[in-house]
Amino acid sequence: MKLPYIIIIDDDIQVLRAIQRDIRNKYRDEYKVAATESANEALELIKELKLKNEEVALFISDQRMPEMEGIRFLEKASEIFPVAKKVLLTAYSDIDAAIKAINNVKLDYYLLKPWHPAEEKLFPVVNDLLDEWHAFYKPDHEATRIIGFQWSPKSHRLKEFLSGNLVPYIWMDIESNAEAEKYLISTNALKTDLPLVVFKDGSFIKDPSLSDLAAQVGLQQKATKEMYDVLIIGGGPAGLAASVYGSCEGLKTLLIEKSNPGGQASSSARIENYLGFPHGLSGAELTQRAITQTLRFGTEVLTPMEVKSITVKDGYKITEMKDGSQVYSRAIVIATGVSYKSLEIAGLDQFTGAGVYYGAAGIEAHACRNEAIYIVGGGNSACQAAMYMSKFAKEVNILIRRDSLSQVAANYLVQNISRTPNINVIPHTDVVACSGSSVLETITLKNAKSGEEQTVPTKALFVYIGMRPGTAWLNDTVLKDEKGFIVCGSDLQKDKSFNTFWKLKREPYMPETSIPGIFASGDVRFGAMTGISSAVGEGSMAIRFVRKYLQEI
Ligand SMILES: Cc1cc2nc3c(=O)[nH]c(=O)nc-3n(C[C@H](O)[C@H](O)[C@H](O)COP(=O)(O)OP(=O)(O)OC[C@H]3O[C@@H](n4cnc5c(N)ncnc54)[C@H](O)[C@@H]3O)c2cc1C
Repeated sequence: MKLPYIIIIDDDIQVLRAIQRDIRNKYRDEYKVAATESANEALELIKELKLKNEEVALFISDQRMPEMEGIRFLEKASEIFPVAKKVLLTAYSDIDAAIKAINNVKLDYYLLKPWHPAEEKLFPVVNDLLDEWHAFYKPDHEATRIIGFQWSPKSHRLKEFLSGNLVPYIWMDIESNAEAEKYLISTNALKTDLPLVVFKDGSFIKDPSLSDLAAQVGLQQKATKEMYDVLIIGGGPAGLAASVYGSCEGLKTLLIEKSNPGGQASSSARIENYLGFPHGLSGAELTQRAITQTLRFGTEVLTPMEVKSITVKDGYKITEMKDGSQVYSRAIVIATGVSYKSLEIAGLDQFTGAGVYYGAAGIEAHACRNEAIYIVGGGNSACQAAMYMSKFAKEVNILIRRDSLSQVAANYLVQNISRTPNINVIPHTDVVACSGSSVLETITLKNAKSGEEQTVPTKALFVYIGMRPGTAWLNDTVLKDEKGFIVCGSDLQKDKSFNTFWKLKREPYMPETSIPGIFASGDVRFGAMTGISSAVGEGSMAIRFVRKYLQEI
């Protein structure tokens, strides 16, 4: 296999030699290291590398250079190698420029000069960035291929599942990719068999179910133990955090996720408010780190596996899955979060995955290149999606019912949107109708103030209009509020039937539900502060109380 490149640019020859020496000594077995004093020369080099099908994993560029600023260089370089990681080498006086670059060129890190000792200040950063690059980069021949129709709901589901489970794939649209046809011929598949999935060993499945696909790409689907100390339902930030702390503390931990780990966070294009990541990180990156961490500690993760019910027998919790299998555990953490409300418009359902998407900006962005697209809703998630899509779509239209975005979204997002020329915010507007033959073709917008209606052509409508808790499957097993959020801790005592269901001498622990030993954390808990940091905090904290509970029984 060809070694990927690390490219270093600094016009100060002494600094260049020093960093080149450090990087080469550490990484020469796995990477080719190229260094130059000239940004223009570096740009010529990377164009040549592209033509030769070489890969670049990391650019390290000085900021102050006579030919062009480092930020400008990184911007140009990432047009050619978009997934390569970008580090800016700065003097203390250039920190402002570096912080701006975090937003403008999606800088991955700024490194202050001097970077010695390299073992402390340089290598940990570079190791992390190279690990991230490896996780998301897979050479063409090593990836699974999905061949299908671009606007087909079935294809969308498979893409969503694989990307959510961090399985790299290559998407091939049968209508626009000439290579795709060849796979149909070699597998004897017809267009009616699509989507077709071809694996790297040459095996293939026509129109697979998610479970078949999961089994083929090596995702675990059966629990290996008779009994677990703690079973966690839901693999969003709360469930993932609970699983990391559970296994880290030596508990036998099983995590069950019905679609893909990461939950809502996995559809976030850029999380900017998570502690310790000043340059932001995508939901996919956060999930990938969390999954790696929890598997390393020994958590078993079953996906896709949907929990259908919980029963309690002699204090043991029995969790039943949709496929009929059962798992026993001593304690349970429910972290099933919330999911998007659907837009209630006659006929819209038939276009879900075929032009209408719920929180799937990251997956469908490339398909929206040069299109005019619409986003319904103006909260933080809608704004993040709009910012992300603006890099691909010709025009992004955000439809809101209120006067302005500032009434519903965070200030930094409102500012970013006002500075992005191809995003329009359309106030007082609802979508009232849609049409299309097999895929979405038009939507009708209605201005609530004037009553005026307008039908516009579009291939994509992204819906971000609020959430409902993922607790319908629980029926009345644990106490919920009228909206379906799970009531825990001291809130249980406010319920007039408290004495009828709570028989222990102690009070319920803070994240404990109306059944001792069953806990809830994250967005699904009544009164929770939503958000990734809170969910992570709640998930970790739940384990503390799981341990206390396990000591009692
Ligand atoms: C697009 C978007 C962007 C966001 N950006 C940010 C941000 O920048 N910063 C921030 O702080 N917050 C952000 N949020 C909010 C944040 O993602 C959520 O608050 C957080 O993910 C809640 O975590 P959770 O683990 O409680 O639930 P969720 O993330 O909702 O995860 C719940 C998981 O449970 C699974 N599940 C549900 N039912 C079952 C079942 N029966 N069996 C098995 N599994 C089940 C679901 O599939 C899901 O994976 C964003 C949300 C969205 C949608």
